[in-house]
Amino acid sequence: MDSFIYKNGRLFAEGVDVAEIAEQVGTPVYIYSKSTLLDHFRKIQSAYAGIDTTVCYSIKACGNINILRALAGAGSGFDIVSGGELYRAQQAGADVRKVVFAGVGKTDKEVLEALSAGIGYFNIESEAEMENLVRLAQRAGKKTRAALRVNPDIKYDSHKNITTGVKETKFGVDIERALRVFEQYGHNSTVDLCAIHVHLGSGGKTIDPYVNSVKKVLPLVEELRAKGFRVETLDLGGGYGADYESDTVPSAADYAAGLVPLLKAAKLKLILEPGKSIIANAGVLLTRTIYKKTGGQKTFVIVDAGMNDLIRPCLYEAFHFIWPAQVERQFVPQKRTKDVEMEGLEVADVVGPICESTDYFAKDRALPPVQRGDLVAIFTAGAYGFTMAGNYNARPLAAEVLVDGDRFSVIRRRQSYEDLVALER
Ligand SMILES: *Cc1c(COP(=O)(O)O)cnc(C)c1O
Repeated sequence: MDSFIYKNGRLFAEGVDVAEIAEQVGTPVYIYSKSTLLDHFRKIQSAYAGIDTTVCYSIKACGNINILRALAGAGSGFDIVSGGELYRAQQAGADVRKVVFAGVGKTDKEVLEALSAGIGYFNIESEAEMENLVRLAQRAGKKTRAALRVNPDIKYDSHKNITTGVKETKFGVDIERALRVFEQYGHNSTVDLCAIHVHLGSGGKTIDPYVNSVKKVLPLVEELRAKGFRVETLDLGGGYGADYESDTVPSAADYAAGLVPLLKAAKLKLILEPGKSIIANAGVLLTRTIYKKTGGQKTFVIVDAGMNDLIRPCLYEAFHFIWPAQVERQFVPQKRTKDVEMEGLEVADVVGPICESTDYFAKDRALPPVQRGDLVAIFTAGAYGFTMAGNYNARPLAAEVLVDGDRFSVIRRRQSYEDLVALER
């Protein structure tokens, strides 16, 4: 669970009434709970304590350097997908040896930056990329390590836009092809190809896809070892479930129970790249109701956050639990689910102010009655929330706040109008 809890009908982030944050910082505002994100991180660490595991938090889920700093302090490494994320990790004081670099289109500039920083692993997605990495590393006089991303061809229940583990995606190489890549590069003295990377994408609600993909990859590891190649590490990527609804996904301990015995038997070290399972429910997007409007049969709750602040519903049809931040006692939610059953709820669409019909957060959602001026919390918004935000409609980016116990600090100030035009000449 997390640290966003109603006390006497008022939503608190740890020890702070979110209304106080709205008062001081304004809305919309992202509010993160430090204890929640650290709790998730530590639970992963302890679940995998039986094998050599490096947890590399995926920066693209939520990259504020204060959050990275908190995780680095707890021993986290980082999964990066760009030079900008490497810079963020460095600014946060990350141990760069625990940085892994993924992505199908790393530019020469980014590769050189990562080589000179001395990151732990390049996660390689094609032969062309491997060839280029060897060339650049030789030119720069650097040695490095690489993991080959393979595609285990596992299908599972997930939105079509976020499925990555199947053959027909742009990510990684087929298992059959992996052997040929090792034959060509497996004994390279500049780039030590000594790991396999798998990343299934996001959205699974059981551990089976993970267990199955490890079972698909282990024969490859055996075959490679039998041919004299060294395979030390399996990087299992990210995509572990997050509680968008209460208690619907496996815990870190559940995943570990399925995975650790397999990896132990294969004498593989493990890298994990969790993003949303650490940060998703460690954040809410707090917004204020601007108007309530009725059109035909429908009621619309128009809030001051828009798809530019949180694009997941529009992009993936993602579910976010939404609830007013201050409610009468009978409306305190016991669980965050798609269909809350309570007397006296009203059905409404929760929408933003942007000139696009896809600018919505929920459709036909049962909510306690909301009035103009009421604060509304969009839960489980910590992952792929602020990081995907943009300035569409010349809307300044929201502020970000980190709560720690009964104190909070603004870890990124709200953009001003001047910020919007600052780079233009
Ligand atoms: C996005 C991504 C992750 C993190 O995914 P989550 O669903 O946030 O856990 C990890 N590894 C890679 C390679 C990714 O692209």
